Amino acid sequence: MLHQIRLISSCGGLLAVVIALAVIVFGTDRLSEEVSERLSIPSEYAAALVSGSLVFAFAAPVAALVAQWQENRRLALRFGHFARHDSSTGLLNREGFTDALDALVCGDFLHRNGIGVVHVEMIGIQLVNDAYGHEAGDAVLQTVARDLAGVAGPGALLGRLAGAEFVVAFPIEKRHSKGYAQRHAHETGERLLAAIARPRVIDAHEFELSANMGVCAGPEGGETAAALLKNTHLALTAAKGAGPGAIRFFDRALETLVGERRAIERRVREAVATRSFELHFQPLYSNRERKLVGYEALLRLPSGGEGFISPAVFVPIAEELGLISKIGDWVIRSACAFAAEWPGDYSVAVNLSPAQFRDGSVSRVVREALAETGLAPRRLELEITEGLLMNDTQAVLNELNMLKELGVSIVMDDFGTGYSSLSYLWKFPFDKIKIDRSFMRGLDEKDSLVGDILLAIVSLSRSLHLRVTAEGVETQAQSEFLRELACDEVQGFLLGRPMPMTDVAASFQREEISRADRERHALGGMAH
Ligand code: C2E
Ligand code: CA
Ligand code: CA
Repeated sequence: MLHQIRLISSCGGLLAVVIALAVIVFGTDRLSEEVSERLSIPSEYAAALVSGSLVFAFAAPVAALVAQWQENRRLALRFGHFARHDSSTGLLNREGFTDALDALVCGDFLHRNGIGVVHVEMIGIQLVNDAYGHEAGDAVLQTVARDLAGVAGPGALLGRLAGAEFVVAFPIEKRHSKGYAQRHAHETGERLLAAIARPRVIDAHEFELSANMGVCAGPEGGETAAALLKNTHLALTAAKGAGPGAIRFFDRALETLVGERRAIERRVREAVATRSFELHFQPLYSNRERKLVGYEALLRLPSGGEGFISPAVFVPIAEELGLISKIGDWVIRSACAFAAEWPGDYSVAVNLSPAQFRDGSVSRVVREALAETGLAPRRLELEITEGLLMNDTQAVLNELNMLKELGVSIVMDDFGTGYSSLSYLWKFPFDKIKIDRSFMRGLDEKDSLVGDILLAIVSLSRSLHLRVTAEGVETQAQSEFLRELACDEVQGFLLGRPMPMTDVAASFQREEISRADRERHALGGMAH
C-alpha cells in the first residue's frame, strides 16, 4: 500500500512541476482556454480539469508524506516500547519509569498532591537463579511484578530498574494531616513487603523471598524524578544495612550515613587489594572444667586510624560487593595455617558467609587448606547461620555434605535468633549448635523464661546428639547458671575477649601453667 502511494506520488510530483510551469507561463485562465481549444471540450470542463489536476498533482506527495510519517510513528512506538519497557515483566524500565515519573510530577501536581516512591530490592533471586536457572528466576520475578501491581493499585506507576530491583510510585492526597504522606508511603512499603514474602511455587519448587525497601514521599523528599529516585535509593542502601526485610524512610541524616558506608566500601576494597585484613581469636572453654578447648577466628578490618571496623558492619558490605568469597578463602587458609602451629588438640572455628556457598568453592578451599597446612580435619569447625538454609537448595546441602565427608564439624551459629532454627536441625546433621548471646542477656532479666528455654534447648540437643556452646557470657551470674546446665562449652567476654594472634601463643603458655598447677594440687591432695 505504502509502495503504491509512493509510486502515485512520484508521478504526481512530476505532474505538479509540469502544471506549475504551465500555470506560471499561461496563468490559470489562459491554460483552461488552451486546454478547452486543444481537447475540444467546454471551457468550464477545461477549468475543472486544470484545477483537479493541480489538486491531484500536489495532494499525492502530501498523502505519501502523511503515510510515511504514520508508518514511522508506528515503528517508533513499537521500538520505543521495547526501549522503555522490561521485556520479561512488561514493566517500565529505568528510562521509561524516570520519564513517566517526571511527567507525573511536572506542573503544579506536587503542590496539590503528594507522591510516594518505594524502591524494592529483592533478596533470594540469585539463589533461585543459581539453583534452578534464569528461566525460573524470571518466572519468580514475573509473579513478584504481578503482586506489586496488585498491592499498588491501578493509579500507581511500576518499573523494573535492574535485575532484582523494582520501583513503585503512587499519588497521595494532600488534604490529610501532617505526616500523612510519610505514613501512607511507609504503610504501602509494608504491604508490598508482605506481598513479596508470600510463598511461591514455580515448577513444583517452593520459594520464599524477602526484600529491602527504601521509601520516600515527595515533595519533601524530592520534586523531580531524579531527586525522588536518588533519595529512595539512599533509603534502600540504609535498609540493606539493617538486614533482610528492613524498610527505611528517607531523611536528610541518611545522606551522612551513606557517605560513611561509601568510606567502608573503599576500605574493604583497599584491604582486599593490599591484604590488610587481620584475624583475632576468641577462646572457648569447656563448661565443666573451664579448660581451654579452642578458638573462634574473628575477622578484623583496620579502620585506617586507630582500632577496627566491626565485621558485623563490613561483612554484609563485602557480601554485597561480591568480595566475601575472596576474603573468606583467606580466613579459612590463615586460620588453618595458624591453628596447625598450636600445641595439643585445640580446635579452631571459622565463620562462613552464605555467599561462599554460592559459587560452590568452599569445600575445595577447605580441602586445600587442610592439605596445605596438615591441620587434622576434626580440629576445624565451620560456623554457618540458618540464612544459608533458608532456601535449602540441593547445591548448598551437597557442599555441606562434602565438607562433612572431609571430617570437619559443622556448627549452627546464632541458634534461636532466626525464624525457624529448629526446623533446620533435621535438614542437615549438624555437629554442634551455638546458642545466641541474646539468651544470656535474657537470663539477667527478672522473672524471665529464658532459663527454662535454655534448659529445653540443651536437652533437645542431647537427644539429637548435638554438642552445645553458650556464647556471649558476660557476667558471673550467667556463668554460674550455665554450670548447672549440661552445656558443653562456653564463650564470652567474661572468659576471654577476642585477641590478636600474638596473644594467642601467650594464652597457651598460661593454660599450660594452670594445667600444671591443677595437676600439682591434685597430687598434693592425694599426698594428704
Ligand atoms: P559471631 O559469629 O556470632 O561472633 C561472635 C561475636 O560476638 C564476635 O563479634 C565477638 O566479639 C562477640 N562476642 C563474643 N563474646 C561476647 C560477649 O560476651 N558479649 C558481647 N556483647 N559480644 C561478644 P565480632 O567479632 O564483632 O563479629 C561479629 C560477627 O561478624 C560474627 O558474629 C560473625 O557473624 C561475623 N564474622 C566475624 N568474622 C567473620 C568471618 O571471618 N567471616 C564471616 N563471614 N563472618 C564473620
Ligand atoms: Ca560465630
Ligand atoms: Ca554467634
